[in-house]
Amino acid sequence: MRPPRVLTSVYHWRVDEPQPKDVDPHSLTRFAKDEALRLGFVLAGVTAPDPPPHVETYHAWLAQGRHGEMGYLARPAAIERREDPRRVLPECRSILVVAWPYDPPTPSTGRGRIAAYARGPDYHEVLLERLAQWVGAMEAHLGHAFPFRLYTDTGPLLEREMAQRAGLGWIGKNTCLIHPQRGSYVLLAEALLGLDLVPDPPFWADRCGTCTRCLDACPTACILPDRSLDARRCISYLTIELKGSIPASLREDVGDWLFGCDICQQVCPWNVRFAPMPDDPGAPTADPDASGLLGSDDEEIRRQTKGTALRRARRGGLLRNAAIVAGNLRAHDLQPELARCLREDPDPIVRAHAAWALGRLGDRESRQALRAALEVETDPEVREEVVRALRGPTPTLPLKGGGGE
Ligand code: SF4
Ligand code: SF4
Repeated sequence: MRPPRVLTSVYHWRVDEPQPKDVDPHSLTRFAKDEALRLGFVLAGVTAPDPPPHVETYHAWLAQGRHGEMGYLARPAAIERREDPRRVLPECRSILVVAWPYDPPTPSTGRGRIAAYARGPDYHEVLLERLAQWVGAMEAHLGHAFPFRLYTDTGPLLEREMAQRAGLGWIGKNTCLIHPQRGSYVLLAEALLGLDLVPDPPFWADRCGTCTRCLDACPTACILPDRSLDARRCISYLTIELKGSIPASLREDVGDWLFGCDICQQVCPWNVRFAPMPDDPGAPTADPDASGLLGSDDEEIRRQTKGTALRRARRGGLLRNAAIVAGNLRAHDLQPELARCLREDPDPIVRAHAAWALGRLGDRESRQALRAALEVETDPEVREEVVRALRGPTPTLPLKGGGGE
């Protein structure tokens, strides 16, 4: 995951100096929200920079190792900052939380799916750019600069907790922030401000009720009862954050997801009934499929992922995922590409997953490619994958009944 982007203003007055007395916080808050909506955010709310209410859940989640390889989340400094936003910006007196909409998922093409949020331009760039414009408008309105920090997604904040406290919605059982009129197809961003804005009432109601659709549909059963995820089993984590091998026991559950997973949002009734459909969806920025990735050279992959969030998975991660999708879809037309990856790819993770996929295809050409690899492959993990693939799939017990979309 990329490090947090931090944009900082120039301080025009001493950092401990209070906001000028003639600024009415109510009218300033109105202006702040109107300006955020004018810039394209669909929700805007304000909360105080107090510690988040469910920080203990976060501690327990880390203690159980459910963050997987995302070790940066467990660093002491990162934990302290998430416990108290004033450690991020000591002058912070209020936090503006905003939501940016993205188009709901489209039906699968049958060649690999990309999570809906990632099909447009890289949201980190878009949201921080808009928030920087918002700061400019606030400075022009006030006639002076003020201390601030801007974040989206990767910052040291429990942002869904901040959003709930700013009145934007509740945290659903699928761990997404859900707004009663917009559903959960939104991305969150925050501005920590050395300004006095008026906090909104928190959204404490739990509108999930007795619904369990997301839990029932999650292919890996990784949604936990305390509204957190075991990230180590979540397809989003496996296909984006995990840099090494995807555990063999979870590869089948990855299904046709190339990057991320939308299932627990797609089944949510608040999205099914209320998420607004775009007037004109337009062409997605990022739309490579498994064949597009496996059949491309490095230059072409760079071109296909330029300016998109897909870059987070890196070349090796995308090819690893594409091999799993090809294996799960039994895409025999991609056998030559998989055989080439096993033979030539410089990344052992890609070769190992190509071997797994060839084992899933199980045809004569695939077995020939696997046997040929055994003659030349020197990496012990790849060799192990090849041997396992030649032996054929080991039957595994299902994680749970039902599952799937
Ligand atoms: Fe993760 Fe997909 Fe399960 Fe949601 S449905 S928790 S994104 S694996
Ligand atoms: Fe809540 Fe049901 Fe949506 Fe899950 S699917 S988040 S339980 S409303």
